[in-house]
Amino acid sequence: MPSPLTVNAERLWQQLEELAQITDPDAPWTRRAFTQRYLEGRAWLRERMHEAGMTTRLDDAGNLIGTLPGSEPALAPLATGSHIDTVPSGGRYDGVLGVLAGLEAVRSLQEAGIRLRHSLEVIDFLSEEPSEYGVSCIGSRAMVGKLSPAMLDFEEPGGERLFDAIRRMGGVPEALSQPLRQPGALAAFIELHIEQGRVLESRQLPIGVVSDIVGIHRYDIVVSGQADHAGTTPMELRRDALAEASGLIKTVQQEARRQAEGSAYLVATVGRLTVSPNASNAIPERVEMVLEVRSNDAALLEGFFPPLLDAAQRQAEDTGVSIAATSLSEGLPTQCADEVQAQIAAAADSLGLSALTMPSGAGHDAVYMAMLAPTGMLFVPCLDGRSHCPQESITRQQAADGCHVLAETLRRLDRG
Ligand SMILES: [Zn+2]
Repeated sequence: MPSPLTVNAERLWQQLEELAQITDPDAPWTRRAFTQRYLEGRAWLRERMHEAGMTTRLDDAGNLIGTLPGSEPALAPLATGSHIDTVPSGGRYDGVLGVLAGLEAVRSLQEAGIRLRHSLEVIDFLSEEPSEYGVSCIGSRAMVGKLSPAMLDFEEPGGERLFDAIRRMGGVPEALSQPLRQPGALAAFIELHIEQGRVLESRQLPIGVVSDIVGIHRYDIVVSGQADHAGTTPMELRRDALAEASGLIKTVQQEARRQAEGSAYLVATVGRLTVSPNASNAIPERVEMVLEVRSNDAALLEGFFPPLLDAAQRQAEDTGVSIAATSLSEGLPTQCADEVQAQIAAAADSLGLSALTMPSGAGHDAVYMAMLAPTGMLFVPCLDGRSHCPQESITRQQAADGCHVLAETLRRLDRG
């Protein structure tokens, strides 16, 4: 085994700082996809890719792809990457670390005079974060043909369609009715990301090897009762939608806690509630809420809500309240490829970095890339697990460790 590659921790850190400066000045750190600021960020990134010896192109989905040619052009490329868009007032590392660590890996390979057999792509996926158009992971979805015509028709509040916005970013939306790439088009995909949770930090571990990425089911739940005077309607005559809704929310929480005691990962959240008439002197007539269930176990995920809904519906009947639910989305868990997990673990081990195998509770572009190629993810810790906020923080060492394992994993996958 050749000696491990050296990555330049200082240079990686400087690049992270530099890209962070391309932010809406009044709301650091904000670089929303589809804005002028985002295009500025991309222009900066494209220059850095050229400096590193890569060719660049935009694919029809508006993904920015830098390529370092390999010595055996017939081989499918290896790919890494993430996203440089942020949520409003987000962090400096979510997504950005994965892209800039890929760039640093390329520079390190070049400086060490190592030519990979496979070409290596560093991909900045278009709009991973939820956009004003109501869709997330736009670029990675589109790459695998999962951005539907209905989604392309979604409009942002100003009335622009996603279709037109993709064109504005340099994509070719007409081409997106087909997958841009077929399974096998990449030899492997690997994404480095901050954990966005507290597991690694609490165990003082530098590296997480992601075993699987949770699937997410979302339900729209409508609880219907009757609005009556809150002063004159006796308790036994009330059809209080909010009282029934709150019972269901509590049951969801208790049941999720119970099921999460096993080895599988499961979380369930009601994070959004609309009550009407929403007046202090009126009995609530209607509650609309969104339940989100996440798990890395498909059976647990699918089996979680239906029995709770059944029970709640039966119980509500006694009080003259009805409960209806419709499914909003049904994403399944994504398994990370065993061989990629094994290479990440071996790479970490060769660098003397302890690693923990763990699921990802957040969605990522890797979910879609797993439809194309053996896919893996690795995590580094972030301070207090905080993310999607300006306080999001990692250390120079944590960034360098992640980058080092990423580069070493790519080198190992190249030999395989
Ligand atoms: Zn991210």
